[in-house]
Amino acid sequence: MKAWVLHNISDIRLEDVEEPVLQEGEVLVQVKAVGICGSDIPRIYQNGTYRHPLIPGHEFSGVAVKSGSAADTALEGQRVGVFPLIPCKECPPCRKKQYEMCRNYSYLGSRRDGGFAEYVAVPEENLVRLPDHVSFEAAAMLEPMAVAVHAMRRVKAGGSDRIAICGVGTIGLLLYLFLKEAGMEQVYVFGNKDFQKQTLLKLGLREEFYCDIRENDTDQWLMERTEGVGADVFFECVGRNETLVQALNQTAFGGRIMLVGNPFGDVNLEKSVYWKILRNQLTVMGTWNSSFTHEMSDDWNYVMERLAQKSVVPEDLITHRLSLEQMEQGFRIMRDKTEDYVKIMMLR
Ligand SMILES: [Zn+2]
Ligand SMILES: [Zn+2]
Repeated sequence: MKAWVLHNISDIRLEDVEEPVLQEGEVLVQVKAVGICGSDIPRIYQNGTYRHPLIPGHEFSGVAVKSGSAADTALEGQRVGVFPLIPCKECPPCRKKQYEMCRNYSYLGSRRDGGFAEYVAVPEENLVRLPDHVSFEAAAMLEPMAVAVHAMRRVKAGGSDRIAICGVGTIGLLLYLFLKEAGMEQVYVFGNKDFQKQTLLKLGLREEFYCDIRENDTDQWLMERTEGVGADVFFECVGRNETLVQALNQTAFGGRIMLVGNPFGDVNLEKSVYWKILRNQLTVMGTWNSSFTHEMSDDWNYVMERLAQKSVVPEDLITHRLSLEQMEQGFRIMRDKTEDYVKIMMLR
């Protein structure tokens, strides 16, 4: 089969490799759509991954074509989505079914071969069947959607909460989509690129709810719109020192801050900012990955129901559709930022 194989940092090649050999309980998935995640770019060009050679790609969907021993043969021919984290099932978080915090996990596309290929071996338990109306493209975005939903549900954003989102990468945009779908009306978004703004307006954000941080004093901008109080829930989706300070300054008394963005470096807070956590009795929370337990209450089912009803249409965020052979163009666009993009996807 053809696959993009990462041999070393910055050394990724399209090659003919052996089809994966199925282990017990695994299913062979023919990849129909795979998205390039922001995290794939440093994995390919900067840091490498856990072992080389490795086929990256963790946001994918496809058709189950062959069941290995002990895997359900009824899956063969089914359209499927894939939860990329493979939990150990033995550590303390796993015993509580909080697999996203597994201490000893494997991961498709970073610790074992993933979706930038024609076929992937996936444990049966990591598959979800796709309802008829859910496209492969949408299903290839299940993972980032579930990540956004996990953050939203953990912080219990709802009711009349005034919400701020700082940072409008894929997760920030998806958060906006799901907050809107959940009926949130006061969602203020901070961004710094015209293309992000246009995308948000297309998704339904009213212009007066968008703050371009290049042109505004963000503290003043939000306070003017919230009776001087700030946001009840603040999603920090950047991971920089400045944006954490922004969150602490702009969150209302008794409010919640959800830290979503992966940190760029060390974080330091001035005493006057730190005081705000205490005096405003803020709740500062973290979020990681998403819940996937095959129960109705998990994040993946939450997303799947909304895809099936078409109340969320993530296809609107796909800016580039490439063939397997063209994927390197996608990596380069994201590395060099030579074009505007949201989700770059490979389709077969
Ligand atoms: Zn990802
Ligand atoms: Zn575990």
